[in-house]
Amino acid sequence: MRIIDGKEIANQLKNEMAAEVEKLRSDLGRAPHLAAVLVGNDPASETYVKNKEKACHEVGMASSVYRLPERTTEAELMEVIDFVNKDEEIDGLIVQLPLPKGLSEDAVIARIAPEKDVDGFHPANLGRMVLGQPSYLPATPMGIMLLLQRSGIETEGKRCVVIGRSHIVGTPVSILLSRNRAGANCTVTLCHSKTQNLPAICRTADILIVAIGQCEAITGDYVKEGAVVIDVGIHRVPDASKKSGFALKGDVKYDEVAPRCSYITPVPGGVGPMTIVGLLRNTLSAFKGEIYPKR
Ligand code: NAD
Repeated sequence: MRIIDGKEIANQLKNEMAAEVEKLRSDLGRAPHLAAVLVGNDPASETYVKNKEKACHEVGMASSVYRLPERTTEAELMEVIDFVNKDEEIDGLIVQLPLPKGLSEDAVIARIAPEKDVDGFHPANLGRMVLGQPSYLPATPMGIMLLLQRSGIETEGKRCVVIGRSHIVGTPVSILLSRNRAGANCTVTLCHSKTQNLPAICRTADILIVAIGQCEAITGDYVKEGAVVIDVGIHRVPDASKKSGFALKGDVKYDEVAPRCSYITPVPGGVGPMTIVGLLRNTLSAFKGEIYPKR
């Protein structure tokens, strides 16, 4: 069994990006710039936004955060988005989700200019992705594809089972893995909360991708001997032995599943660090006008 070291792969990719960013900055006079909008005081969202800022700085990108109070109206939030959409020195814009109650995530995402939508959640970008056209790929699915590639895992012709059909993870990764492309070409089954005989379906998988948001729900009897397991879940569970007071766990019961696998991602240090890399890659693409050529 080999542990896929997402942190190490993310660091390699960030080092590669840092060299490119530095060259672009010296040639063009400015670095790519990511803006994040954070509404309210959700502690997990605060942490995610801080990590994104830190990662930008690590690769030499500029970052800014627009912090808005919990009681912000949709009209006020839209004004901020319009303002950033027009700022020519900002390449990428993300609105940290979830938003406080009363704000429509769909409407807010649709307001982001597609060429700045580096989360890849705008209907224009998801539509392009489904059609196989150039688009910003949602960050976590992109991170998973990169993890498989960089670990040298063969995907062509393999049976892949994805559990979870969210718009940000399960559905897009199932589409990307089924594409007629190098690093894809899997035969994919997408499972969800209404799937019957889930363990038996999962046991057919050469590659099992788990994104269900249920702590340690996937046990050894879901996993074929020799399978590759990618665990997307992140859960904080109280742990008095840790300085922080909590430990991070995945959707997969690691100790039970790992001995059955050929490869597995740990939590933390698997998919998580790669999600940020996906976001940085999209921001770099936006700066270079790779998806939407700059006028
Ligand atoms: P979500 O809650 O939006 O969707 C969960 C999906 O799983 C749903 O489609 C549901 O049908 C399915 N599901 C739930 N319980 C199930 C069960 N028992 N059996 C089969 N299917 C079931 O979740 P999400 O946003 O896709 O996130 C999934 C997990 O991944 C969460 O733990 C989240 O915190 C984590 N996550 C991690 C990263 C990262 O960077 N590592 C990024 C995004 C999400």
